[in-house]
Amino acid sequence: MIAFGRTCAAIAATASKLEKIALVAEYLRGLDDGDLAPAARYFTGNPFPQAQKRSLSVGWRTLVEATAATWNVDDTALAVAYRSTGDLGAALGPFVRPSHDLGLFRDILTPARLYALLNEIADATGKNAQKRRRILCERAFSACTDALEATYVIKIMTGELRIGLRDGLVVDAVAQAFERDPRAVRRAASAAGDLGAVALAAKHDALDQVTIAYHAPIAFMLATPIAYGSEYGELAAATWLVEDKYDGIRAQAHVTPERVSLFSRTLNDVAASYPEVVEALRALPGSCALDGELVAVRDGRVLPFRYLQARLQRKVVSPELLSDVPVRYIVFDALARNDEFLLDVPLEERRSRLAELLAGASDALVAAPWTALEADAGAEVVHERFEASRARGNEGLVFKRSNSPYTPGRRGKAWLKLKRELATLDCVIVAVERGHGRRVNVLSDYTFAVRNGDELAVIGKAYSGLTDVEIAEMTEWFEAHRLPPAEARAAYERLDLKRGEILVEPTVVVEIAFDIIQRSELHASGYSLRFPRIVRLRPDKLPEDADTIERVGEIYAEMLSREAVEDDARGGA
Ligand code: AMP
Repeated sequence: MIAFGRTCAAIAATASKLEKIALVAEYLRGLDDGDLAPAARYFTGNPFPQAQKRSLSVGWRTLVEATAATWNVDDTALAVAYRSTGDLGAALGPFVRPSHDLGLFRDILTPARLYALLNEIADATGKNAQKRRRILCERAFSACTDALEATYVIKIMTGELRIGLRDGLVVDAVAQAFERDPRAVRRAASAAGDLGAVALAAKHDALDQVTIAYHAPIAFMLATPIAYGSEYGELAAATWLVEDKYDGIRAQAHVTPERVSLFSRTLNDVAASYPEVVEALRALPGSCALDGELVAVRDGRVLPFRYLQARLQRKVVSPELLSDVPVRYIVFDALARNDEFLLDVPLEERRSRLAELLAGASDALVAAPWTALEADAGAEVVHERFEASRARGNEGLVFKRSNSPYTPGRRGKAWLKLKRELATLDCVIVAVERGHGRRVNVLSDYTFAVRNGDELAVIGKAYSGLTDVEIAEMTEWFEAHRLPPAEARAAYERLDLKRGEILVEPTVVVEIAFDIIQRSELHASGYSLRFPRIVRLRPDKLPEDADTIERVGEIYAEMLSREAVEDDARGGA
């Protein structure tokens, strides 16, 4: 572990991702098979394969006692060192005295040997487990020859390397070390749930043989929001598979003949809360991993999210509750089928595999219905489908590129979501600016405000939503209605705006949509909006009709309570 420690120190010393990757790659390349797998894992901060969900269970106390016994560390000196570093590994490392004991345990601490010790520590159970763990830790420590080595051995035990190395970089390093395609390494890593096994496979050119480890969750693929009411330029790039956006709980099912797991967004297993779904999954032939949304459905209609609340986090579900709030699993993706890992198979094909698999399934399992959308479909078609989804009780639409792979953990452009806003706010435009790119000659960026008593309080800025024709008209209007300099000066102060924005007569009302409201020091209102966009001009409204700061507070509170419920849901059973 001497070389591991040196490598980590070098990684911590550079901010460059490329250098970090190169350092890890060089180190991994020099290892033999026995050391390669554990060492690759150590870089991720978890000594065991992720898929095993194993933990070391050595506490602070055990580590401190073991170091004290090995190197005669004084308690007070340690406390001081810990306070100044906040990291046990960094605090303890400098106390290391190379052992003079050349006996049985003085052999070199290789990654493989450390791994064997860590396994023994994790396996220790029963009455004397604590003591046994301490002795095993001592054994590892006494084999360390210097501070760096000991520091990183302890850091592996505490589960945090703190050297600015994200898992993604380790994946890239494995690819670089053995000259493999990073995508192939990433794919194998999400399948196996163990970077150690993947590093070995990369070394021996066997990445395509890495297959899925069932019951180890794969990170969810995420969608990028697109603005409601825009021209939907994003959709012109491809052909799409369009699904309803269900307002439920995301869940990933892993089914093998022995077991069914159902993972929530935070990757907790929530199977116990949804027995009807688990039963339906259990009846499927063979093994599979599926992605979808859990929703409450009664009499064929999706119920609003609040009904589902009653089912969240229940470990035992009463028969009454089961019949009051029946849950269905609407499945929209197949990630694996028996030994086949499907992430790189184009979406269209994954969907046909899914349809086959669910053909004979019980009512609790539904393949999400979808329609195709051509690149040139146009906004009208999009709106029609959106309204149809709303009429079915769903939130909006999700567009998925029909030929896209499943990219775990990515919020990319292959999935786009269009949803109905939490609410919209009618705001008054107080200042305008020139846009960028093709909008550099028009006033297209608007700062808007809500009412605060008789005053206006700025809450955000929007760049998109209006058509080119509308923007041209508005530019003319704003040019003609700039505030005179004296008034403008006072308004800058009052509204707390940055110079450079053109202040205009505060009379134009626009309807603003957004994703969420946040508390923020950015604007005088004390709030800011995420992804604000203009839904439309409201020439029918006067500034006196604009929404108030109190209304913003209400929507904010509503959103928080809803988020709390969702967090509970995600926390799992
Ligand atoms: P949001 O929570 O607004 O970021 O939207 C993303 C979420 O929409 C996902 O995490 C899913 O839980 C949910 N969702 C609902 N229907 C679908 C669908 N058909 N495809 C993908 N995600 C969906």
